[in-house]
This record gives sequence, structure tokens and C-alpha cells, in this order.
Amino acid sequence: MKPFDYHSPRSLPEACLLLAELGAEAKILAGGTDVLVEMRKPGSYSSKAVVDITRISSLKGIGESGDAILIGPLTTHAEIFHSRIVEQYAPLLKAAVAGIGSPQIRNRGTVGGNLMNAAACADTVPPLLALNATIKLLSSKGERSIALSDFFIKPYATVAQRDEILVEIRFPKLPANARSSFVKLGRRNALSIARLSVAAILVKSDAGVITDARIVTGAAFPKWQRVLEAEKVLIGQKPSRELFDAAGKKVSEALISFTGRRWSTEYKEPVIAVLVRRSLEACQ
Ligand SMILES: Cc1cc2nc3c(=O)[nH]c(=O)nc-3n(C[C@H](O)[C@H](O)[C@H](O)COP(=O)(O)OP(=O)(O)OC[C@H]3O[C@@H](n4cnc5c(N)ncnc54)[C@H](O)[C@@H]3O)c2cc1C
Repeated sequence: MKPFDYHSPRSLPEACLLLAELGAEAKILAGGTDVLVEMRKPGSYSSKAVVDITRISSLKGIGESGDAILIGPLTTHAEIFHSRIVEQYAPLLKAAVAGIGSPQIRNRGTVGGNLMNAAACADTVPPLLALNATIKLLSSKGERSIALSDFFIKPYATVAQRDEILVEIRFPKLPANARSSFVKLGRRNALSIARLSVAAILVKSDAGVITDARIVTGAAFPKWQRVLEAEKVLIGQKPSRELFDAAGKKVSEALISFTGRRWSTEYKEPVIAVLVRRSLEACQ
């Protein structure tokens, strides 16, 4: 590992000032489960300074504000898993963090780090997109809020500037009649990154008709997004296996129209359709 300067600010103003001063030389450090792996790769790491934000207590925790849930970026996956608020209002997020890495990774890794690292397989991205989350970024130049759907450019690339700190994740509470799920397919059951994943939310009327449907895939499209074509198939219909199969087919069609046919299509085309059907069945 190359030598670097280590900074450990105790407040957001201090951290913003440091990042402004250090410029492109600095790297923000949260749980370090992505950063340290990167820093240890020979020849691949250029940052000369690390700004460890873990002493900034205002960046931790989960709270409610009216109809919204607020999550601090330094909240660990384990804390999200054990949160009663998340369990009640965003169970698909709980399901997603349950499968991240190992207990050690879940105790150390943060939701903010997962979003900012922006790996295609990042498990918190599909559920947070399905929840219509927005995020707040802060730097010495000011603060801005953006929809998570506008945040990602492609895997490992976001619209965040190098000196911007993610300070808040916010999303509306799911209504009591919403059902949600997160399904992840890996090469094995534990300590495995997603080959494909699906986050789904279904809301039904008292008559059993689907009134709201949200489907987001992980590690499938070049950029994460809700698959509106598939959601449209579901709205106004009563759940059935045939309907869920039709929605799954729409997702694989959308995937192929984005990526074209390539070496992995033979595998992904049927598998994503089945994962979508399973995730919708799990919303029943
Ligand atoms: C063995 C192993 C297994 C893993 N398994 C999974 C898995 O199953 N699923 C999965 O999704 N991920 C997995 N990961 C990846 C990793 O654990 C997660 O992405 C984790 O959430 C990263 O959080 P962190 O706090 O460790 O981030 P860090 O490593 O500290 O930072 C990650 C990136 O985010 C930036 N950053 C962090 N916080 C902020 C902030 N508040 N504002 C601005 N920038 C910030 C950093 O500069 C860096 O670019 C695994 C990693 C390992 C080592």
C-alpha cells in the first residue's frame, strides 16, 4: 500500500474544508470495505490523502420525519438489518442488506459507501431506487438534493464531485398495504456478490387489483433503473403466475433492447425473467 496522509475530521464543516483544500488528492473513507481493497491493489490507487468521516456522528442513524425515512450514510448494513423502522416501512431494504458479504462486512460496510462506490452489483441500489429515494450531497460550495435515479451514470461512476459528501438518504414510507421483496442470485448463498438481483414493490387495492408496481434490477442493465415497461403490464391487473411471467418477459426484452445480444444474453434472458417472477410472487 502506498503511503498517504490520514485526516479524521469531527464535523461536517471541517470535513468539507479539508476536501476543498486537498482537492483531487483526497479520498473519503467510511467503513473502508471498498476503499481499502482498492488501496491494496498494486499500482491502482492514486489518492495521497484519506479523509475518514466515521467520527462525524450526524452521519449515522435511521429516523422518521413525517411520511419519510431518513438514513445517515454511515449507517452500517447490520444497523439497517436490525432497524424496526426499516422492517416496517422498507422491508425490501432489510432483505437486501441481509445478504451483503459476511457479518464482518455488514458490521463495517455502510449504505453510503455502497451507493457512492456504485458497483453494478451494489445490493442497496435496487431497493433504494424502488423506494424512490433521494440523496443529499454537501461540499464547501453548498448542498444539493438529487433523485437517486439521476445519481448514477454507469457502474463506478456517479454525478457526485470528488469533494462532495453524501450526508442523507431519504425515501417515502411504503404504505401499509404495500408488499416488497429483494431477490439476489449469486454463485453461492453466502459471501457472494450479485450476478443478478431484483427489487420489487406491489400495492393492491381492497379488490386485489395492483395499483402500484415497481421493479428494479441489479447487475443487469448498464445503468440501474425502474423497468417501466414491465411495471405497466402489472398495473390494473390481478396477480397471477401468467401475469408475473409476462412482467418478467418484459424485463428480459427491455434488457436485450438496451444491451443487444451478447455472450451473457443466453443466460441472463431466461434467468432475469424467472427472478422477476419470483420477486413478484414474494410480494404476495
Ligand atoms: C468480502 C467482501 C464482500 C462484499 N460483499 C458485498 C455484497 O454482497 N454486496 C454489496 O453490495 N457489496 C459488497 N461488498 C462491497 C462493500 O462492502 C459495500 O459496497 C459497502 O457498503 C461499502 O461501504 P463502506 O462504508 O465500506 O465504504 P468505503 O469503502 O469506505 O467507501 C466506498 C466508496 O464510497 C465513498 N464514500 C463512502 N462514504 C461516503 C460519503 N458519505 N460521502 C461520499 N463518499 C463516500 C468512498 O470514497 C469510496 O469511494 C463486499 C466487500 C467485501 C470486501
